[in-house]
Amino acid sequence: MTSTLVTGIGELVTNDATAGDGSALGIVRDAAFAVEGGRVAWVGPASDAPACDQVLDVEGRAVVPGFVDSHTHLVFAGERSAEFVARMAGEPYTGGGIATTVAATRAASDDELRLQASRRLAEMRASGTTTIEAKSGYGLSVADETRILRISREFTDETTFLGAHVVPAEYAHDRAAYVDLVCGPMLAECAPLARWVDVFCDRGAFDEEESRRVLQAGMDAGLMTRVHGNQLEPGPGVRIAVERGAASVDHCNHLSDADVDALAEGSTVATLLPGADFSTRAPYPDARRLIDAGVTVALATDCNPGSSYVTSMPLCLALAVREMHMTPAEALLAATLGGAQALRRDDIGTLQVGASADFAVLDAPSYVHLAYRPGAPIVATTWRAGARIAP
Ligand SMILES: [Zn+2]
Repeated sequence: MTSTLVTGIGELVTNDATAGDGSALGIVRDAAFAVEGGRVAWVGPASDAPACDQVLDVEGRAVVPGFVDSHTHLVFAGERSAEFVARMAGEPYTGGGIATTVAATRAASDDELRLQASRRLAEMRASGTTTIEAKSGYGLSVADETRILRISREFTDETTFLGAHVVPAEYAHDRAAYVDLVCGPMLAECAPLARWVDVFCDRGAFDEEESRRVLQAGMDAGLMTRVHGNQLEPGPGVRIAVERGAASVDHCNHLSDADVDALAEGSTVATLLPGADFSTRAPYPDARRLIDAGVTVALATDCNPGSSYVTSMPLCLALAVREMHMTPAEALLAATLGGAQALRRDDIGTLQVGASADFAVLDAPSYVHLAYRPGAPIVATTWRAGARIAP
């Protein structure tokens, strides 16, 4: 088995609190790590590095774990720039535009969907992302939800069934029939193609009782749970997610004290999506309140054509620091280890021995530049399981 030594690392973020400087990021300076069989085999000071078959010298650059983007709607057709223009002129975001994307997605061929998704994934990889989650939810029929998940699986193993995204127009007068469809025939076809079930529990989407039904049906079909909740107004999303033992509840813009307490006591990660707040000009979630209460926080892009056509995790980090008062270290941790926890994965999100060798080499001396130099193409190269995936 060929081994590779990645060396010349000015600043290595391992996310191993027992390594390096003893901070949560486990920073090792003048560092190296060895990769064998796609996994990290050794980490430490470059001066102590073992001999390897190949050497990759990054010449003083910083290296961070690859970003884990635990919330994307990767597969869809069309775009909604006109809706963005209207919103920036003062119209509120309601989620109603989802129907536009459903129509475009249903009309697109498999190859069109595949081509568009692959372009978005290439952007994500070029900005340092090594793992993505991808949701269905723009099909909203048995055939189209199945098709989206089948195509999503060509890009990632972390696929999520989101038939309960919104009620499609053809069921507008019979919501219960749509929930029956989601929990019955649609789930039956989609469950074998998904690892997760998700529900948009919010104003204009699904209410508490409907959301509980969807999550329970998904669990009965062997899927693990995640929830879109508390984005547009206070509501039951967080409470349901924690009660169901969901891996993550995403958005979390409007939280009660009881919601924060429940998250702090439970194992559900609060995934914050600042790209959505930026793109809908909505108030950002109170990240400090969550972190100070001891809640595990993740950052993700929520890449979708309506509320967050964002593929860049570095942009999300910069927004989290500038707008949500997270420290650069907290933001990086949330975008890597936090995302891994939101996907219940312990093999990604760190660069400790045994982890998948997923990393980004930065054209910068420190990870802080991710937030400090917003908009600069700061990721030089991205590597997954020890192989270069971008550029
Ligand atoms: Zn979403």
